[in-house]
Amino acid sequence: GGTYDLIVLANRLPVDHAVDENGRPCRRRSPGGLVTALHPIMKRRSGAWIGWHGRPGPAPAPFVHDGIHLHPIALTGDEVDGYYEGQSNGTIWPLYHDAVEQPQFHRVWQDRYRAVNRRFAEAAARVAAPGALVWVHDYHLQLVPGMLRELRPDLRIGFFLHIPFPPVELFCQMPMREEIMRGLLGADLVGFQHPQATRNFRTLAADLLGAKVTDRGIWYDGRDVAADTFPISIDVAEQQRLALDPAVRARAAEIRRELGDPRTIVLAVDRLDYTKGIECRLRAYEELLSERRLDPAQTVLVQVAVPTRQQIDQYQALRERVERAVSRINGEYAGIGRLSVHYVHQSFDRAELAALYLAADVMAVTPLRDGMNLVAKEYVATRTDGTGALVLSEFAGAAAELEEAWQVNPHDIDGLKDGIADAAEADVAEQRRRMDPMRAHLHAHDVNRWATGFMGRLDRLSRRWPRSAAA
Ligand code: UDP
Repeated sequence: GGTYDLIVLANRLPVDHAVDENGRPCRRRSPGGLVTALHPIMKRRSGAWIGWHGRPGPAPAPFVHDGIHLHPIALTGDEVDGYYEGQSNGTIWPLYHDAVEQPQFHRVWQDRYRAVNRRFAEAAARVAAPGALVWVHDYHLQLVPGMLRELRPDLRIGFFLHIPFPPVELFCQMPMREEIMRGLLGADLVGFQHPQATRNFRTLAADLLGAKVTDRGIWYDGRDVAADTFPISIDVAEQQRLALDPAVRARAAEIRRELGDPRTIVLAVDRLDYTKGIECRLRAYEELLSERRLDPAQTVLVQVAVPTRQQIDQYQALRERVERAVSRINGEYAGIGRLSVHYVHQSFDRAELAALYLAADVMAVTPLRDGMNLVAKEYVATRTDGTGALVLSEFAGAAAELEEAWQVNPHDIDGLKDGIADAAEADVAEQRRRMDPMRAHLHAHDVNRWATGFMGRLDRLSRRWPRSAAA
């Protein structure tokens, strides 16, 4: 065994490659929410983080960054293709998002997924102290809990899935279905974003593996496994600080001016992913303009479409369809010096994004399926005066918490149009009536509470169920 009492495993290490002021390569903490959430705990407990450093080829030696011990995992080019782009993003991602695009099944992808999961499990087994707490993250690493349990039965293992967990009928398409279920059930605690995901998992454990499922947990292979819902959140205080920053507020006013001071700015911020419902939203917007329920001279849609997974065919095809739709709408409804859709295929930093949130009258978050959707939470947390209007798909995990949003079914274009139009017309009293309870909810449920909630539960569970090695 090793020396770490707390270990996090995730596909990626929490650092990005960057260039410093002198043009030399350096490492920078990546902006993701998971890093923000775990950083304080990892630092306090001197934890280790195991993950891929983001490039094919040999792994750099372990190093310390920002008080966290980082253990890079090497992936070959073939493994990046098979484990990451293939099995993770070509099979599991679409399947777990209601198969809104056709999942691809390839045996060589599965083999590489197994091999890489084993490498992660072995790395954790090597560096974990006796009885250490190990927290495994997300769909890339679903076999790890089971593999690690075999190598190190003394460890306390948690797993959290950041994306949805599908219903039985969809999950059962997967050739690796039993292997993945056994992998997940190797954990002591399996966490999901949404109560429906937790229910799907419990049903599958019973139906597929014959596990005994009770209110207390899942009894499988001589062990008790707990499955529960832990909706992830954002750093609300930090988001609020950004929202009140004079530079951010000035930038928000400037954005409104740059957009020509229209009456209504509608904002959408998504990775350019087929799960995000971008095309439904554009269709609804186009019809609202055409029917003059939104005034083309007084309405602007800002669509931030963050580049993502650009090597994958389905993503290239989506980009082409979206860009064609944007051109069509602008061709029809824009004027000289006045766009109807400002489409940016770029990503922005947190300050610029906060300024956009502040500038937007309506935030349209309309995924066909989404594990949580942090953008929706960020918009609510940014609107410190309680104004603004959130249109939110009922298929986003966030819909279980942000109940007062204008909730829509993005497949129902007429309902989606009504949601956007109603949100655009709401007066300030109506905006606040909806925003206030959502803001209160976020203040009580920030990302720190999510992280400590999961870890605390894992800690308590494993004390209740002593391991044989410890006995
Ligand atoms: N984001 C960002 N810059 C951008 C667009 C998005 O930093 O230009 C961040 C955003 O603030 C949010 C995250 O990316 O924290 C997206 O998370 P979400 O859960 O909404 O969707 P995901 O991309 O994880 O599917």
